[in-house]
Amino acid sequence: MSKKELVRDILLSVWRIHILHHAAHRPVIGQWIIRELRHHGYEVSPGTIYPLLARMERRGWLVCELDGDGGSKAKREYSLTPLGHDVLAELRAVVGELHHEVVEEWEERMGSEHDPASLPDS
Ligand SMILES: [Zn+2]
Repeated sequence: MSKKELVRDILLSVWRIHILHHAAHRPVIGQWIIRELRHHGYEVSPGTIYPLLARMERRGWLVCELDGDGGSKAKREYSLTPLGHDVLAELRAVVGELHHEVVEEWEERMGSEHDPASLPDS
């Protein structure tokens, strides 16, 4: 696996978490998710996001409703299922733990390494 693919592999999960988080508040459509993720600096295409939403729906995390008359131009609105809420709750704990270890503990370590007061007495 190339480095680029490895990064993308991880980011796909990060994007799933964004989708769950936002769909928990109100129904979201693919175009909104794409704009949201671009706002965060992720260059995502419809060819990535729509299949991702469809897979999350198949897993039972999202439910899709057709907005409007259900014709060919109808927008697919995704909202969180009860299972999706459970998954999101678990992911919040995972993200919190990860942030604590990867960011907070790392910052503490970097801070103490650069803080002369923490150097052992000589
Ligand atoms: Zn977001």
